[in-house]
Amino acid sequence: MNTTYAYAAQHAQSPLAPFEIQRRPLRDHDVQMDVLFCGVCHSDLHQIRNEWHNSLYPVVPGHEIVGKVTAVGPAVTRYKVGDRVGVGCMVDSCRTCASCAEGLEQYCETGFVATYNGVDRESGDVTFGGYSTDLVVDESFVLRVPENLEPAGVAPLLCAGITTYSPLRQWGAGPGKKVGIVGLGGLGHMGVKLARAMGAHVVLFTTSPSKIEDAKRLGAHEVVISKNADEMQAQTNSFDFILNTVAAQHDLNPFLNLLRRDGTMTLVGAPEHDHPSPQVFNLIFKRRRLAGSLIGGIAETQDMLDFCSKHGITSDIELIPMQKINEAYERMLKSDVKYRFVIDMASLKP
Ligand code: NAP
Ligand code: ZN
Ligand code: ZN
Repeated sequence: MNTTYAYAAQHAQSPLAPFEIQRRPLRDHDVQMDVLFCGVCHSDLHQIRNEWHNSLYPVVPGHEIVGKVTAVGPAVTRYKVGDRVGVGCMVDSCRTCASCAEGLEQYCETGFVATYNGVDRESGDVTFGGYSTDLVVDESFVLRVPENLEPAGVAPLLCAGITTYSPLRQWGAGPGKKVGIVGLGGLGHMGVKLARAMGAHVVLFTTSPSKIEDAKRLGAHEVVISKNADEMQAQTNSFDFILNTVAAQHDLNPFLNLLRRDGTMTLVGAPEHDHPSPQVFNLIFKRRRLAGSLIGGIAETQDMLDFCSKHGITSDIELIPMQKINEAYERMLKSDVKYRFVIDMASLKP
């Protein structure tokens, strides 16, 4: 068996450092791939620092993966050597519960198997993610990457893309709808591009005045500085849907106030500390809804990739070598990334 080169965190306070692992021998339905690019999600940072209190060390992060197939198990039918493929946040689920049967593997009633920091259903081994030179995944959790899109920019679609696409679809973003996106980070910038391509009127909320021009270039019709009370006030009672991608605890009331009657704000940001409970009157007087959403199912992820192919959408990225990852995390914490770091995995190959 060949050595897989990876980067791992050994405990909650340790930086990422080189780590060698072995991928499993191919099972009947397994696809092996060379990892070409891997996006850097804020969830990687939450998990290497154990901010969700469920990390299994060592943690090899990475769930925005684009690779090239190098081998397939004997029963694989969907992929062949040389295909360009993607892997997102999940590598398995029970495949039989009601959610799995509906193609909503992310809500698997027995819990999906995460690409990293998960536990393999067959071997009981902890899963290791895409900050590594190669990967082995069951073909049912592998996506087809459209050939017309630049592969490094596709990597972030596998998490940031689907996590924003799924709720935008679920809550009907489209022509005639006013949609807010809160936070212009990895998820937020995909939310802006996707909501715009779906035909909605898009308003971006940011805490960073320096991002106004970019937000417009990315597709926002309007940009609101969320710390400016007057600008917020001007948007009161006007939104059909708000997608909140913020990675830190904050007051939800100023955003709930902006929903029209029956409007929904959906949280996808997953901060270490919960938001304070919003004011009840803010919800009941306009029958407003506060919701959550988790990534997206495998079939919907393929839909999203095909939608991006059709509309020529990829992530705006900053390509880094693996060796710069700890620096990249510090910059991400300062909202200093335009708008997703992607690791060029060639930098890790000996
Ligand atoms: P990111 O690139 O760091 O972007 C987060 C953005 O939130 C920042 O760019 C910033 O935007 C805003 N922000 C950060 N700190 C803030 C603060 N204290 N107050 C207000 N705004 C703040 O992170 P990401 O990769 O997009 O991930 C965002 C969150 O979604 C993370 O918590 C991640 O774990 C979670 N996530 C959830 C799912 C899911 O399935 N639900 C999937 C993936 C990720 P501005 O500078 O524009 O204000
Ligand atoms: Zn992610
Ligand atoms: Zn299931």
